[in-house]
Amino acid sequence: MLEIDGLQVQLDADAGLVRAIDGMHLTLARGETFALVGESGCGKSMTALALMRLLPENGRIAAGSVRLEGQDLLTLPESRMREVRGGRVAMIFQEPSTSLNPVMRVGDQIVEAIEAHTALRGKAARAKAIDWLARVGIPEPARRIDDYPFRLSGGQKQRVMIAIALAAEPDFLVADEPTTALDVTIQAQILDLIRGLQRERQLGVLLITHDLAVVSGMAHRVALMYAGQIIEVAPAAEFFARPRHPYARLLLQALPDAARRGEPLAAIAGTVPPLWLDFAGCRFEPRCDKAMGHCASTPPRLTEEGPQHQVRCLLYSQPGEALPRQPAVPRPPPPEPAGRGAPLLDARDLRVRFALKAPLFHRGARHFDAVDGVSFKLHAGRTLALVGESGCGKTTSGKAIVQLLRRQASVSGLALFDGRDLFQLQGQALVQARRQVQIIFQDPFASLNPRMRVADVLEEGLIALRPELDAGQRHERLLTLVNQVGLRRDALQRWPHEFSGGQRQRIAIARALAVEPRLIVCDEPTSALDVSVQAQILNLLRELQREQGLAYLFITHNIGVVEYIADEIAVMKAGRIVEQGSCQTVLRQPHEGYTKDLLAAVPRLSNPAH
Ligand code: SF4
Repeated sequence: MLEIDGLQVQLDADAGLVRAIDGMHLTLARGETFALVGESGCGKSMTALALMRLLPENGRIAAGSVRLEGQDLLTLPESRMREVRGGRVAMIFQEPSTSLNPVMRVGDQIVEAIEAHTALRGKAARAKAIDWLARVGIPEPARRIDDYPFRLSGGQKQRVMIAIALAAEPDFLVADEPTTALDVTIQAQILDLIRGLQRERQLGVLLITHDLAVVSGMAHRVALMYAGQIIEVAPAAEFFARPRHPYARLLLQALPDAARRGEPLAAIAGTVPPLWLDFAGCRFEPRCDKAMGHCASTPPRLTEEGPQHQVRCLLYSQPGEALPRQPAVPRPPPPEPAGRGAPLLDARDLRVRFALKAPLFHRGARHFDAVDGVSFKLHAGRTLALVGESGCGKTTSGKAIVQLLRRQASVSGLALFDGRDLFQLQGQALVQARRQVQIIFQDPFASLNPRMRVADVLEEGLIALRPELDAGQRHERLLTLVNQVGLRRDALQRWPHEFSGGQRQRIAIARALAVEPRLIVCDEPTSALDVSVQAQILNLLRELQREQGLAYLFITHNIGVVEYIADEIAVMKAGRIVEQGSCQTVLRQPHEGYTKDLLAAVPRLSNPAH
């Protein structure tokens, strides 16, 4: 159905000519799901944009062809290409906020797609639009169809985008991280829907994602990309059972899960190289734990290593002697201290109530109980995971503990920290408590002030919460901190935008550590990061916990991360904890129906669909 042959995409950048895709070949059959996977910046999304001819202004297709059922899309006049986009080929992007028209009702946007690409008109098209809203899991679709996008949550907007894409009844779907922003239960529903349509209509799907568990549940074949090239292609089951490329092996070892508890994850040091470099040899060589002497000077080609299995690595085509390198998986650390004695944090009947603005002409305020009577205990040196879907109250609980809601909401209950109620503290006692309870947020891009150098970011908290330190002592502390989180000393004089996502998260961790906390609320600290960077951050958090006896309240929707890092788990739904206990018990033998549903919806590598 789709044939990409020798595709080269180039971008003009300040640093020089960027070869974003460097000679790609792939074929995709009708009814097949082909997954493109790899770290940010490896060329996955650029492939999708190139085949839809939606490259940014500084980009061009320098060579190659893209044929859809024999028709070359790259030579088609723009007017014909417009019919292809959104018609025969539909696309789902990751960012729904910018893809929906904000001044058009969502129903009208779906009806527009239906009328443009199917025979349905008027009422029939509207009825079909309601049907699509229901199929993508929008509650009360007959009412929500007349809403404007701003009334929908991020996840709901994404589902509307998916409805628009599918309503045109395409033959071929390009899905770029289609479910990354969604909760696992909605994700499972959307993936089921795509699978169903694929069977029904022989839909071809190019799935772009960094979530390997989603790939194993959806894809027939997988291509792993690195630095603008495909470096391994194989049937999905074969790829997950017998990955050949050293990078593929490391990526799979970097995934956190129960089996890896107690051992460090494989952390792939370094980052994807900039694509304006002229590569003399293998692009993965600086990060490869299997590199040989000739890897830096000999560019590897894709070679057959089994039925439909191709690998770009000299280990197979020109084997030689390995260079001495650090193993990617460090030695296991000594066992962790167990949590004993009185808990560090004892939250009892925690409630957070937000006042809602009364609708026009109605008197009196209404309330929303985001957290509705939550109790848990957390010991020093231990990790308690709070899990649940968006809006269940897990982040609000974390923020209440860190005292970030004092102004916005009414918080009640007890939060006994070392026996003293955090909610009752004032003055100096409150300053001390703020120092001991810190938070790390999900988005390392948004949580650092872009106008402050790293040194100032780190020093800000020290000045406020450790006023007894003089300038020299503060500087010493900053040097220790950057070293602890694995950054170089010169990082202190740089700006946040000069760092990658993983490095920024390290800075955020250093900022939290600056004031020597005893408890850190980690609010989805790795969900914006690539798998390999996630592994580095999880290793770092575990190491710090072991060294300093830190307690973590770990808020996440990633069950793999929970299995790997948490000692106890509390499952939240609609502001309440529905089940809690040791991680092993709750994850292996859940009692509550909600926990069972949540766990069943989690995509896993061990459950491949094909
Ligand atoms: Fe590693 Fe050499 Fe293979 Fe590249 S070619 S992945 S450096 S072994």
